[in-house]
Amino acid sequence: MHPGAGRPYLAIPGPSVMPDRVLRAMHRPAPNIYAGEVVEMMPALVADLRAVARTRQHVAIYIGNGHAAWEAANTNLFSPGDRALSLITGRFGEGWAAGVEALGVAVDRIDFGRSAPVDPDRVEAALRADRDGAIRVVLLTHVDTATSVRNDVAAVRAAIDAAGHPALLAVDCIASLGCDDFRMDDWGVDVMVAASQKGLMTPPGLGFVWLSERALVRSADAARRTPYWDWRPRIAPTEFWQYFGGTAPTHHLYGLREALGMLLHEEGLDAALARHGLLARAVWAAVEAWGAGGSLRCNIAARAQRSHAVTALRIAPPDGDRLRAWCEREAGLTLGIGLGMATPGSPEAGGFFRIGHMGHLNAQMILGALATIEAGLIALDIPHGAGGAAAAARAIAHPDAP
Ligand SMILES: *Cc1c(COP(=O)(O)O)cnc(C)c1O
Repeated sequence: MHPGAGRPYLAIPGPSVMPDRVLRAMHRPAPNIYAGEVVEMMPALVADLRAVARTRQHVAIYIGNGHAAWEAANTNLFSPGDRALSLITGRFGEGWAAGVEALGVAVDRIDFGRSAPVDPDRVEAALRADRDGAIRVVLLTHVDTATSVRNDVAAVRAAIDAAGHPALLAVDCIASLGCDDFRMDDWGVDVMVAASQKGLMTPPGLGFVWLSERALVRSADAARRTPYWDWRPRIAPTEFWQYFGGTAPTHHLYGLREALGMLLHEEGLDAALARHGLLARAVWAAVEAWGAGGSLRCNIAARAQRSHAVTALRIAPPDGDRLRAWCEREAGLTLGIGLGMATPGSPEAGGFFRIGHMGHLNAQMILGALATIEAGLIALDIPHGAGGAAAAARAIAHPDAP
């Protein structure tokens, strides 16, 4: 018997589940890159990219992944000898800080641990202590995919303002965009980075940097900026190739156009965010029921601090590894590994896993995934409270419950 045969379900936090329509939109011969459809689609595509970030300001597109988007932001923002303040709530915050440091920037880190969000009071205190305003940029991860904590971006902006500090605010929304509410202009964000393969439901290969007018002006003197990474021609190209610093990512553009059309013009962004909120609550309901009779827990205790895109879980090791292996082998469900929570390969590392619930996902998929996890808990004799799948079903049945 092969119960895992059939359509597999990749429930890791990126790449996410992609609509077949997006894949079909990409399946076509190479288009002309000097005239015609791909050239003409750009103004509407750029408008949609602005809309998904809720900004009226600029966006630059890069062929690359999330790391490329980080690099793009970094090289445009910093010069050697600058200072930055990095707010760390998981592995991805550390990754961004390391990239900034590699440019010769002095990075002050505040680490809030692996199970807590940024405390804005500590940010305000750190900025008040920087009397001559040397910190150029505050780096924040909206959702750290490793811990699944969701940080309060507006509160960090308020902390910067309360300190009377001139620092720009740069936010990593690679995990959260399209899943967790984000408002670039309302929240006073200067730079935001994202990539195609998570909430934007498109294969890995595109990175994006949104930037405020203020960021554009302040970064005019960035000393390490090279022509390829320069965001200025990309946000205001006079020729088509300048959007991409070379040949366009033609097929990704078709895929992205389809995905943004579905997200913004068919479902609607607010509805998509509400869907992700509901699916996240179903996950949490199941985990909380299982946790009542065993060691399984959401890594983030408070619901209000959890992402709607991914849920990081803790369980007595090695049951995280056992459960992941069982779900994949016996049911075709691939769960995410723990990341940055323990030394890879150590016994403790088997006590963490993640459920990705970003992208093109609906209630039957998440209910199937949760019932599968429950089957794995039963099959492996892992202690757990009863009724997790039923609790998830109730969450879906009562979508307006908190
Ligand atoms: C996925 C992710 C990244 C890295 O993106 P890559 O495409 O893997 O380079 C960075 N930050 C966050 C928050 C992410 O979720």
